[in-house]
Amino acid sequence: MGKRVLVIAEVRNGELRQVSYEAIAAGHAVADGGEVVGVILGENVDGLANDLIHYGADRVVVVNHVDLKSYTTEAYQQAILKVIDLENPQGIILGHTAQGKDISPRLAIKLNTGLISDIIAIEKNGEEDVFIRPIYSGKAFERKKIKKGIIFATIRPNNIKTLEKEKARTGEVSIISVDIKGLRAIVSDVIRKVAGGVDLSEAKVIVSGGRGVKHNDGFKPLKELADVLGGAVGASRGACDAGYCDYSLQIGQTGKVVTPDLYIACGISGAIQHLAGMSNSKVIVAINKDPEAPIFKVADYGIVGDLFEIVPILTAELKKVLNVEEFV
Ligand code: FAD
Repeated sequence: MGKRVLVIAEVRNGELRQVSYEAIAAGHAVADGGEVVGVILGENVDGLANDLIHYGADRVVVVNHVDLKSYTTEAYQQAILKVIDLENPQGIILGHTAQGKDISPRLAIKLNTGLISDIIAIEKNGEEDVFIRPIYSGKAFERKKIKKGIIFATIRPNNIKTLEKEKARTGEVSIISVDIKGLRAIVSDVIRKVAGGVDLSEAKVIVSGGRGVKHNDGFKPLKELADVLGGAVGASRGACDAGYCDYSLQIGQTGKVVTPDLYIACGISGAIQHLAGMSNSKVIVAINKDPEAPIFKVADYGIVGDLFEIVPILTAELKKVLNVEEFV
């Protein structure tokens, strides 16, 4: 029987994040032909509603409020609970992002329901939804289902295929008002460490540097390669600890977990804690001058050599193949 599924979209810098569209596709998998309702929270965000509909939302609920301009747990929790109360959904889907990780367990407690986090695929077993999620730092996968109550899940970015964007798709947009009160903290300003560029957790291509880049400037050739491929730059903790780059770039067990289509590891040994953050990437290329480096065990393609020789050659060749005239 068709279900009503709420998809809590995420807005960053005035735009919907890619994971919101992926969550709509996941919502349809759970809805079984029922209704997928997108929820957009923010200040003056009604202009984004049609975008969500073009990606498959049947209907969108917008909550505009000055206290929702920047994410805070309390304000978002109050607003989302209000929407859940009005819509009475049988399913709720969020992105497994910093926001999703923060708010979803709190919502689950308030709703007295279970939560399956960090899912990478949804399969059907008859009428039942089976959620697949990596465990043990990506070394194994578990299959879970919710037996009763609301089907509540967060999806890992970059794993669930979005529906085709159809600009002709239409749907109802309702703007609701909420009463947000008793906030113990407000965000007065947001200062971003990295302005613009491709978001690491949603990037299709990541060029990552390790301690092998040897100094801050060692990231320059990696950035050039990433720009040619339209990707983002990441790093190992070794590179971050050495002060070659900011910790916001760290990938791994204590950094970001990424699953790009292509991960190029340059001067990274492949410690287990690093692999925990990238080993589920679709294609892994490793460049390392040590042929015994463990990174080669998970790499689909390995290049043994000096990254300062190989990366510029790759960049130059890719520029020719991809017809890139200038670096962005
Ligand atoms: P190294 O291990 O020093 O490797 C550098 C590599 O560069 C070597 O393989 C070398 O052969 C190669 N190299 C050197 N020069 C060149 C060159 N010119 N060209 C090509 N190759 C070259 N690490 C993470 O990355 N992410 C995490 O989230 C993380 N969390 C951790 C959590 C805990 C609790 C602990 C204990 C550790 C964690 N670590 C994490 C650290 C991890 O154990 C490793 O120390 C770290 O990943 C090593 O970084 P690295 O590969 O850049 O450096």
